Amino acid sequence: MDCIFCKIINKEIPSKIIYEDDNILIFEDINPQAPFHALAIPKIHVPTVLELKAEHSNYLFKAFETISKVMKEKGYSEDGFRVVLNTNRAAGQTVFHIHFHVLAGRLLMWPPG
Ligand code: AMP
Ligand code: ZN
Repeated sequence: MDCIFCKIINKEIPSKIIYEDDNILIFEDINPQAPFHALAIPKIHVPTVLELKAEHSNYLFKAFETISKVMKEKGYSEDGFRVVLNTNRAAGQTVFHIHFHVLAGRLLMWPPG
């Protein structure tokens, strides 16, 4: 499958890994938009939130559980951080393997652009 994030999961493309287990990979975004910008992905190919099914629920829970653990460990939990899920063209989705952007380390504007 020609999916860049599946290739990152399979180590066919290098990435700066922050956290990894059997279900979830968190790695640094190659084009960071904040001092801390990571991508949390399930180790299963789901293109967008629109294709999510009940059988994926454990991956979603684990993604958030893991994001929480990493952000506490990195010291961003008290100040806060943002989790973003872009879907399709209007939101600027460019990689069609579901991923959560995790942004921290600066004041994040609201509403987002
Ligand atoms: P989105 O626009 O929501 O689909 O986000 C895709 C994100 O993947 C962007 O923030 C890119 O900078 C990031 N990205 C694309 N290729 C890589 C890569 N090889 N390693 C790390 N991040 C990447
Ligand atoms: Zn994929």
